[in-house]
Amino acid sequence: MAKFSDITQTIGRTPVVRLSKLVRPDVNLYVKLESFNPMASVKDRLAIAVIEEAERTGKLKPGQTVIEATSGNTGIGLAMVCAQRGYPLVIVMAESFSVERHKLMRFLGAKVVLTPAAERGSGMLAKAVELAKAHGWFLTRQFENEANADIHSRTTAREILDDFAGERLDWWVTGFGTGGTLRGVARVLRAERPTTKIAVAEPDNSPLLGSGITQQVNPDGTYPGAHPAFRPHLMQGWSPDFISKLTADAIAAGHVDRILPINGRKALDTTRDLATKEGIFAGITSGAALSGAIDICNASLPGTTVLCMIPDTGERYLSTPLFADMPADMDAEETDISRSTPNYRFDVRPAPAPAKPAAAEPEIPVKADAAAFVEKALGSAEEPVVMFALEWCEFCWAARKLFTRAGVKYRSVDLDSFEYQKDDRGGDIRRALYAKTGMKTIPQIFIGGKLVGGSTDLLEAWKQGKAQDMLKEKSVAFTAPAPGFDPYSLLPTWLQAR
Ligand code: PMP
Repeated sequence: MAKFSDITQTIGRTPVVRLSKLVRPDVNLYVKLESFNPMASVKDRLAIAVIEEAERTGKLKPGQTVIEATSGNTGIGLAMVCAQRGYPLVIVMAESFSVERHKLMRFLGAKVVLTPAAERGSGMLAKAVELAKAHGWFLTRQFENEANADIHSRTTAREILDDFAGERLDWWVTGFGTGGTLRGVARVLRAERPTTKIAVAEPDNSPLLGSGITQQVNPDGTYPGAHPAFRPHLMQGWSPDFISKLTADAIAAGHVDRILPINGRKALDTTRDLATKEGIFAGITSGAALSGAIDICNASLPGTTVLCMIPDTGERYLSTPLFADMPADMDAEETDISRSTPNYRFDVRPAPAPAKPAAAEPEIPVKADAAAFVEKALGSAEEPVVMFALEWCEFCWAARKLFTRAGVKYRSVDLDSFEYQKDDRGGDIRRALYAKTGMKTIPQIFIGGKLVGGSTDLLEAWKQGKAQDMLKEKSVAFTAPAPGFDPYSLLPTWLQAR
């Protein structure tokens, strides 16, 4: 491993790994793991390519906003590159793509504009064009930008040639979204490894290529509605509702030897097999492409060598059908394991601790300054809402979330925070609180000096409107929560489930 001058320098040079469990031992099935890129997908390559090309040609000025329409991975890659290079980024994305994707992009500092699912891929693209025009932003045009295909010719294709130098490579298998991978790699393979055949996988229920129907394109490069063979499918990142220019170019150049229709259920099962049998954690299009590669292997002579692209990681799919059957709680088998030994179980109460004669706890006297601190905090006219809390306790967070949601300004005295640990100041305040309220638990929440109680007491008081009455009495502003809002939904999920 070398040292790198910045994160973008780590893009590419992804490993090729042999699979041994999913095919007969006399064929060689390899996968190229694009999840080893810094943001864990093949689209990191495109991201650095389009930004550097635009910088070089002056299309992108320092500080100018970058915009793109994307199903996610391009946006995540661009968010990484734009964060590192200092460009603001706006991503346009159909609402139907998994929520972890937009959260990731926002975490990296991008703005995400959602478009209605009903308007599909072409709708989100049209929105990006409209925004770019209106604001003078730089649109990366991933679907037709030659820099997208070029980076794959310069990097992905060269890596493959190097890794298979002097060895057989009978088939290279990929899917297509923008077609950047396909267009860029295929033309190099055709020129330098003409015996390698190229297979392109697509969803069997959405056979854009399989239909043989060419894509209609408006004079301005946009598309007049969806391709007639397009149907919604679960392979996020593949087959938008149009055949992009880069994909069409690869087809027109005769670079595709076979089209592989892939069944959705099989794609999910193969993604799961790749994880459970080979320990390789990948996304849905990876399992989809691999399912096609396995079909090729199964129909091939001994010695056949197949390389399949694995475009991204599985972590991006937690809220999708890929994880739909993954229980969040213990299944029957796991419950049996739990019950196979006597302790630490949900169905058996812990045995009561053997009774010991209660050793009198040493009585630490309440310190006058701690008691004064509590009185002062509770008597404050500027901050009538006070909670004595623990910094990262989940119950305290439930109370904080309620106040934040209702727009209530509050003071949180975090007794275990760094600030209050010195000379056990937090402990002193806790003892002073106990002397005052008789409550040992934290948080203790007060409105206008009156004790509401702990976290669930506050949630209950809010549910009944009593907390709001106390706030009104002290003229503390708050907003009424949305109808149907249940304060208890703010408690940690592990607590709500039981
Ligand atoms: N798989 C996934 C998960 C993707 O995000 C993409 C890119 N949209 C692809 C495959 C296809 O890659 P390309 O755009 O280079 O055709």
